[in-house]
Amino acid sequence: MAPASIKLNSGYEMPQVGFGLWKVDNATCADTVYNAIKAGYRLFDGACDYGNEKECGEGVARAIRDGLVKREELFIVSKLWQTFHEKDKVEPICRRQLADWQVDYFDLFLIHFPVALEYVDPAVRYPPGWFYDGEKEVRWSKATNQETWTAMESLVDAGLTRSIGISNYEAQGIYDLLKYARIRPATLQIELHPYLQQHNLARLAKAEGIAVTAYSSFGPTGFIELDMDRAKNVAPLMQHEAITAMATKHNKTAAQILLRWATQRGLAVIPKTSRPAVMAQNLESTDFSLDQADLDRIAKMDLNLRFNQPTNYFSSDKLW
Ligand code: NAD
Repeated sequence: MAPASIKLNSGYEMPQVGFGLWKVDNATCADTVYNAIKAGYRLFDGACDYGNEKECGEGVARAIRDGLVKREELFIVSKLWQTFHEKDKVEPICRRQLADWQVDYFDLFLIHFPVALEYVDPAVRYPPGWFYDGEKEVRWSKATNQETWTAMESLVDAGLTRSIGISNYEAQGIYDLLKYARIRPATLQIELHPYLQQHNLARLAKAEGIAVTAYSSFGPTGFIELDMDRAKNVAPLMQHEAITAMATKHNKTAAQILLRWATQRGLAVIPKTSRPAVMAQNLESTDFSLDQADLDRIAKMDLNLRFNQPTNYFSSDKLW
């Protein structure tokens, strides 16, 4: 079966199941990317903030050298970090990220969060993270989202990325952006899982022709690694009795049920794992269908519970 893909409003095809790169260790990252390519992944979801783009690039370069894949068969996604939102900072950092990946264009470049922070010179600290001093001081930048989006559009004009998109935007920000966008966002990447189902936002994006990528499809699992109480205090989705019952019924794993719930809604997913057998399992998650009873049961699981939001990172009294 041909791998499922989504046609973007920019005219390019995006694989529906990709590989996420957040929290992939620098020491193992090149091998992980190489193994994921070997397992059949073509979309890689990276970011400046993940601090591993150089190692991702090494994995990609090795896979290309070994003849596993050609650059044009890959769909490489990266993201603009908040400290580079000012118009004169966008292109230089995109060029640096391309150099790290050892490629001359991204397939998709996203605004990571619609929050502008004061510039930190990459020579001082890279990736810069949320805090100006690297510890706790938050300094805002005056760059508006319009200024940043216009600079993102220039990246397309310069051939540095084929498509541009947004992440962690909510409805108001999207409506505002669409007023001035010369190039519409091709994708919206948001946290989305059965505990945060995001039906209204996904509907809005669909109506505007913007493809949605769901991140953290396994809900709390990816945040337990960060020791987040809010993630530890809720039942892991993969062990939720409704999900395990569906897994038994369809002869699939709980992870495949969670991924299929998203892809069946027409969304893209970007799960992450370092284990090759699990990589294959996550990739092979689009060849069955959940039935109406399954969908009705998952609909009841929505808690509107978000794990990834800036206040979780800024708060000194740890809102999580
Ligand atoms: P995830 O939901 O993919 O969960 C990862 C965890 O699940 C890991 O602990 C992994 O070992 C485990 N896992 C993966 N497959 C499994 C399987 N089949 N069975 C059992 N366990 C399995 O986590 P995530 O990292 O939060 O999200 C995925 C990707 O989404 C990230 O790597 C990143 O690329 C992207 N993301 C983007 C943003 C953003 O702000 N745009 C935020 C978070 C994540």
